Order: sequence, then structure tokens, then C-alpha cells
Amino acid sequence: MIVMKFGGTSVGNAERYREVARLLGSYLEQRPVAVVSAMAGSTDWLLNTARALAEGGRNPAAATHNAEKSVADFLTRNKETIAAAIQNPEIRSQVEAVVEGQHQVLLRLLTGVELLGELSPRSLDAVAAFGEKISVQVLAGTLQDLGFKAQAISAEELILTDRTFQAARPQMDVTTNRCRARLLPLVESGVIPVVTGFIGATEDGVTTTLGRDGTDFSASIVGASLDADEIWIWKEVDGVMTADPRMVPNARSLRRISYAEAGELTHFGAKVIHPLTVMPAIEKGIPIYIKNTFNPSFPGTRIDHGHEQTDGVVKAVTSARNMALITIMGGGVLTVPGIAARAFGKMAALNVNVYMISHASSGHDLCMVVEKKVIPQVIPTLRKEFERELELKEIEAIESDPQIVTIAAVGSGMRGAPGVAGRLFSALGRKSINIVAIAQGSSELNISLIVSADDEQEALQTIHEEFLSLTGLGKTLSRNMSIRGQN
Ligand code: ASP
Ligand code: MG
Repeated sequence: MIVMKFGGTSVGNAERYREVARLLGSYLEQRPVAVVSAMAGSTDWLLNTARALAEGGRNPAAATHNAEKSVADFLTRNKETIAAAIQNPEIRSQVEAVVEGQHQVLLRLLTGVELLGELSPRSLDAVAAFGEKISVQVLAGTLQDLGFKAQAISAEELILTDRTFQAARPQMDVTTNRCRARLLPLVESGVIPVVTGFIGATEDGVTTTLGRDGTDFSASIVGASLDADEIWIWKEVDGVMTADPRMVPNARSLRRISYAEAGELTHFGAKVIHPLTVMPAIEKGIPIYIKNTFNPSFPGTRIDHGHEQTDGVVKAVTSARNMALITIMGGGVLTVPGIAARAFGKMAALNVNVYMISHASSGHDLCMVVEKKVIPQVIPTLRKEFERELELKEIEAIESDPQIVTIAAVGSGMRGAPGVAGRLFSALGRKSINIVAIAQGSSELNISLIVSADDEQEALQTIHEEFLSLTGLGKTLSRNMSIRGQN
């Protein structure tokens, strides 16, 4: 059994729904279960419309949207897709009837939002879920139209989550039982279940979402629950690459990486898969493949426990641009105990993620990398927290720099391999790229550094050239051989 995930771009229009349906049908022997996102743009449209309606409810004079008109337009567009994707008139009108019913419920929800001028995370989840709920109807109908047995299923029935709206987390025991009870009989009888990505529900049946781009995570939850043989994440690129090809033109596809490497890559800006995707798969050791819908014969990147060494020490290099650097500087950072604890305490209280920390043992300053968008909250909060230290000049300044990028070189081969950091920094030094701060976790899977935003592309290309181009790999190999030779 293979759980196959298709994202919004893969089902971007009627023709794409048909292609996905053909692709699924071609794997019938492998007993596929589909997990599908909303059609490209739907989730954004739903969220933006709900926000505009809430805004208009608070300030009717400035209202730019109207629930009834918005939902009518949405229905028109969805019906156009259905009409183009499904040829058989009976199947088409069945799907249309279900989808029309869904739009009525959506209209009631959005009218409530409009009248109340209020939009809670819970309401946002209820609204956003319609993208996926409609999408599975279209795909299941398209599959039937092509002669396959298929059934649309909402993951509200399957994935039990906590009540953290917009970032809900699954309860795997109940979810596993439900997935098995509901999906296995279908698969056994040759039906392709088409399950909504992105969503789940609480114990009392309230709709939740797993967070933006959560369909990858859904596929892994369903795959682990069913003990699937493999989980395939269909994308529009040839799997995980050594770097972003827009930044590094000679980037290559990777054949195999470990769960840990995939985790590091996704946390550092490589938008390959949702960062939580590997979690459910790890426990059962289910391999995840990242495949290309435009190039189905490409075997894909395999993500698994991956103990075996396949490539050089660095497998990929990635950058994250939406980050800013916060620096707390001054003599007191070393001499006054508890500065770091207080700073991180404040970050936690603000619910701000800290992506990277750097603090040299001379201790004159403490650097943290956070998302740019939280800077307006974080800086005043920190300045308030350290008001006294700032007055006493124990802390000289608390500042932020948004003109930076974080770069991460990732690869499990770095563990215990001497000289990787040296090579990396020398290569950057030769190009006169200034390194603002450095961090390496003790897992040694990743070396992270901060450079000026202007140096992003050159830094990526330099690291790629050093470790991942053919000449770079050659250097690594001959180095490894001489190390082995010494033993
Ligand atoms: N449709 C959702 C989103 O756009 C989930 C996903 O695409 O994975 O965030
Ligand atoms: Mg998406």
C-alpha cells in the first residue's frame, strides 16, 4: 500500500486533476491511498475572503466583500473546474450536488463572520477546510470518470487532533484505529480512498487544521496509521536537491537522505516538505519518496533511516530569507547571570520560535535568529525586560538586523569528519564573504551561519562548489581516502 500526497499545484486546474487521476490509476496494483490539498489558490482565497468579511463587519462603510457574492463566485469557479474535469454527466451532477451543499455551509459560516465582524482561529480553520473538502470531491469524481473506483473522505473522520486551531497536532492512537477501520476495507475492495489533507477534528468534532502546507504531514499521519509500505509526496520538481536551482544553477537531485537530514533541511528554509512530515514515518520506518508529477519516471528522493553513506559530507545547502538577527550586546551579557534565560523566557512567552542561537564564550553578545515578522513585538519586549541593565550600561544595546540570511549546510556525513567547518569557512573567506555568526548543533548534522542578505547567492554557490559540485565531491573523496589510509 502506498499513500500518495498531491499538493495544490498538482491539482491546479481541471487538466491537472485528470493527470493526477490517471497517475493514481496507473498505480492501482500498489493499492494507493490519495491525500490531497485544496486546488492551488483556494486556501489563500478562503482565508483572505474571511478576513475581508470580518473587517467589513467591523467597519461596514469600508466593506469590500459580501459573503453571498463571494461564495457565489467561488462556486462558479469550482463548477467550471468540475465541468472540465468530469465528462460523465451523471458523475458530474453528483459531484456538483455535493459541492453545492458544501458552498451552502460555507456561506452560512462566512455570513456569521461578516455579521459578527469577528474571526477566531477556530473559525478560520472551519473556513479554510473547505478548500480540501471540495478538492477531494473533484478528484474522486475525476477518478470515477476515468473508470476507477474512488471515494472522497474528509480527514475530520480520521485524524483526531488537539484543540490548537491552525496548528493542531494528531493523537496517533485513535487516528490509527480510525484510519484502519475506515480505509483498509476500501483499499481491499479496489477503491481508491481520496482523503483531505491539512485538516482534522477535535474529539467533539470541531474542524481543525494542521497548519499551512499541512497536507504532507497529513499524508505521513495516514501512512503511518495504515502501516503503508511507502509514502510518496508528489511535487513539481525532481525531489530534494542539493540547493535551490534558482540560486545554484548546477544543483542536483539527491537520491537518498535520512529523516534527520530532511528535518534539518526543512527547518532551514528548503521548502521541500512540511517540517513535521518525517515524524509519523520515523517511528514505523516508512520510507518517504519525493517524486515529480511532471517526471513520473524519476525515482525520487528516498527519505529513510539512511545509515549508509551515499554522498559527500555535505548533502545540501539551503538558505532562509525571512529571518532577522537580534543581538543583545554588552559586558553584562557575560557577567550578569540569567540574561540568556530571561531573553529566551520572553521569547517563549511571546510564542516566538528561535531558529538559531550564537553566543561565544567571551560572552560579549548573544545573537538569536527569529522570523522578521516578529521583530516589532520582540525588540520592545526585550528592551523593557532589560530596562535596568540598559540603564546601568550592563547591556549596551538590543538591536535587530533584518538584512541577513541564514545559510545551513546539512549532511550526516559531517559527523566526526574533521575539517568540514574549516573548509567551509575558508571557501567563504576566499570569496571575501563576511560571516556574521555561526552555530553548529552537537548532532553535527548541520552547520548554520548568518551572512548579509547581499551575500546569499554567492555564499550558497561557494559552499555548493566546495562540497557538492563534481570537483568538490572529488576533494571530499580523496580526503576521506587519505583519512582512511591513515587508520
Ligand atoms: N491547502 C493548504 C495550504 O495551502 C494545505 C496544503 O496545501 O498543504 O496551506
Ligand atoms: Mg499548499
